[in-house]
Amino acid sequence: MLNLDRFPRAALCHRPTPLEPMPRLSEHLGGPSLWIKRDDCTGLATGGNKTRKLEFLVGEALEQGADMLVTQGAVQSNHVRQTAAAACRAGLGCHALLEHRVPDAGEDYDSSGNVFLDQLFGASMEYRGPGLDMNAEAEQAAERLRADGHRPYFIPGGGSNPVGALGYADCARELVEESRLDRIDWIVMATGSTGTQAGLLAGLHAMDAQMPVLGVSVRQQAEAQIDAVHGLALGTCEKLGVDPLPRERVLVDDTKVGPGYGIPAESTLEAIELAARLEGLLLDPVYSGKGFAGLVDRVRQGAFAADDTVVFLHTGGAAALFAYRDALAPITGPGD
Ligand SMILES: *Cc1c(COP(=O)(O)O)cnc(C)c1O
Repeated sequence: MLNLDRFPRAALCHRPTPLEPMPRLSEHLGGPSLWIKRDDCTGLATGGNKTRKLEFLVGEALEQGADMLVTQGAVQSNHVRQTAAAACRAGLGCHALLEHRVPDAGEDYDSSGNVFLDQLFGASMEYRGPGLDMNAEAEQAAERLRADGHRPYFIPGGGSNPVGALGYADCARELVEESRLDRIDWIVMATGSTGTQAGLLAGLHAMDAQMPVLGVSVRQQAEAQIDAVHGLALGTCEKLGVDPLPRERVLVDDTKVGPGYGIPAESTLEAIELAARLEGLLLDPVYSGKGFAGLVDRVRQGAFAADDTVVFLHTGGAAALFAYRDALAPITGPGD
């Protein structure tokens, strides 16, 4: 049983998100029936997966009487952008710590895309060098703000804790309803800070739905990512009051990371190009492009049955495209 009504929630998200076929991609790959769950269309400030998590996080912040949200992410964090927008919607302040996580990323990376939108939403920001424990840094910043008389609500990177993951338990509910009309055999998506995959798995588990969920890692090796997803899924199961999720349910493909977090691989660029030119879809170079590359690769390897229905969960991220103009030049051309 999945009951989310007992958790405080702020209405931020267009729900349910559309589930659409990708007929031209399916035909091009000669593969199974490929569909896309449009969580890039969650409706908040160009959309993305953090919106679902923020419904529960902001709900709890308001219940606790917070006056501001404090969080962290990379300079081009989609999570920070959606948190800054959610804060505006809820009448809260937003303070973000941004990590220079991607080396030599260039001028657009530091000033355009998501960070530009953070400024538009009036978030205050501080920067950190790479490699620190950013959640610890952000919690310290929250303590400083508390000492100054604010009432901060701390949100970990990616909104990935059991409260945020409830947003993806709710997405699991949508997918289970949708699969009653048309069976869903596989769900594939990008996995980073883990809340999306952990919440989906916990929600499916709560409903006794056995749909396999493949996370395509954007930053670390499979074993470490499986541990991280499973750890958060256990915390989410506990919050939901259901039995622990068996570790075997966590499936991760780590072959699409490429040179590292925030650096697109050749397969990322190919995926972005395929999605754009065959389906008019915008993927991003950090997350959904890598996730989609994992999907394309599996189809090419014949990993799905011909009559399978495979759903790619589009987690958003297109706002970062403008920050990656140089990296995308191989597919867009040099411009002028
Ligand atoms: C954050 C993010 C992800 C990864 O989701 P997690 O819950 O952090 O694993 C995937 N795609 C996009 C576009 C994101 O911003």
